[in-house]
Amino acid sequence: AIPVLCIDGPTASGKGTLAAALAERLGYHWLDSGALYRLTALAAQRAGLAVEEAQTEAIAALARALDVEFQGERVLLRGEDVSADLRTEAIGRDASKVAAWPAVRAALLQLQRDFRRLPGLVADGRDMGTVVFPDATLKVFLTASAEQRAERRYKQLISKGVSTTLDAVLADLQARDARDMSRSAAPLKPADDALLLDNSTLTVEASVERVLAWWQE
Ligand code: C5P
Repeated sequence: AIPVLCIDGPTASGKGTLAAALAERLGYHWLDSGALYRLTALAAQRAGLAVEEAQTEAIAALARALDVEFQGERVLLRGEDVSADLRTEAIGRDASKVAAWPAVRAALLQLQRDFRRLPGLVADGRDMGTVVFPDATLKVFLTASAEQRAERRYKQLISKGVSTTLDAVLADLQARDARDMSRSAAPLKPADDALLLDNSTLTVEASVERVLAWWQE
């Protein structure tokens, strides 16, 4: 089977940074599955659809027809670079709403599996090891305390010139954790065979080395 390394975990745990570094080190493809939920939210916004229950089917149809291309760190939607649009807090909130709908999750399932190509894949998200790639070669569940994650996200936002407070970021993050863990469709939880990695006190480089050591075992 084509090798797959899954990195799952909560918001702002550093999954993206870790997954990108691992993909680089291994020379593998990288799937940022959160970007697909964000793209679905962005496509809905552009189609003038409100992200609410009544639009579930229409938004799932947009997810099924998603015309996406990843070019390194850049994400293209119908050929247009939307990388910056995807990272806004508003799109993050809408992404977390559409991600709770089974029809949207089902619409994105095959698209995600299609990223499994030679020489291998590093996939990050919430359900890579539990739903999308249950037969993965290695599953890592990344955690860090809510305070640590809030502080990282806060610094990121401030450096982008966004005006916010640490308390607001922490509250938003806890709300998103609660939504991700309590939803009935693919709730956030470690796969039974996942290895847990708490990176609260680890540098990115140390986390990369830890996972590479597991990978080579
Ligand atoms: O990881 P990121 O913040 O980009 O994900 C955006 C939203 O998409 C998350 O809030 C989460 O609810 C959802 N998501 C998901 N399953 C994944 C990846 C992301 O439900 N595999």
